[in-house]
Amino acid sequence: MKLEVINQRVLILSPHTDDGELGCGAIISKLIENNNKVYEVAFSICEDSVPVGYPKDVLAQEFRAATAELGIPEDNIFIKNYPVRKFPAHRQEILEDLIQLRNKIKPDIIFMPCSNALHQDHKTIYEEGLRAFKHFTCFGYDLPWDTTEFSTTAFFKVEEKNVAKKWNALDKYLTQKFRTYIDREFIFGLARVRGAQISEKYAEAFELIRIIF
Ligand SMILES: [Zn+2]
Repeated sequence: MKLEVINQRVLILSPHTDDGELGCGAIISKLIENNNKVYEVAFSICEDSVPVGYPKDVLAQEFRAATAELGIPEDNIFIKNYPVRKFPAHRQEILEDLIQLRNKIKPDIIFMPCSNALHQDHKTIYEEGLRAFKHFTCFGYDLPWDTTEFSTTAFFKVEEKNVAKKWNALDKYLTQKFRTYIDREFIFGLARVRGAQISEKYAEAFELIRIIF
């Protein structure tokens, strides 16, 4: 069966800046090529974790640069400022934000953290995301450092140019270069691993949370 996602409205839920690009940067690039409208919301710019010497809002600047690299129009990005690691205490406000976005954007497809996310902020966005979007098609994205198990129940084939766009976007996060996964070889390697699972060169894998045709 050949399924293509075209002319859809797609919303990416990113707990922190960079999660959305890490989890689905290549498919974002491909979705934009295929005339889909892509929106992304980051719930925290992690002011409490910014490396010494950088301005507090540096991650907002890097997020704008990364999403622009992927081709997301500036008007389609939303930045919230919940305190990093404290999302569970703001569960209801986050849910209300998600419902507002649902009503404003009317998305067809939502990408969010997966159900096994370990980080408390990722888990909160998964739980509240599913609560807000229970009547929508939802995929959980692949962040291998944040799970003990990840269910690869959905795959999107991508091309080398889409993986290159993903890397070029992540390369904008100058403050995050110390992380082992902000690394070109890792990004291409994971796309090859997920591609090999479906006998393709490159892919991104997702947990199928819910699908509605
Ligand atoms: Zn995160």
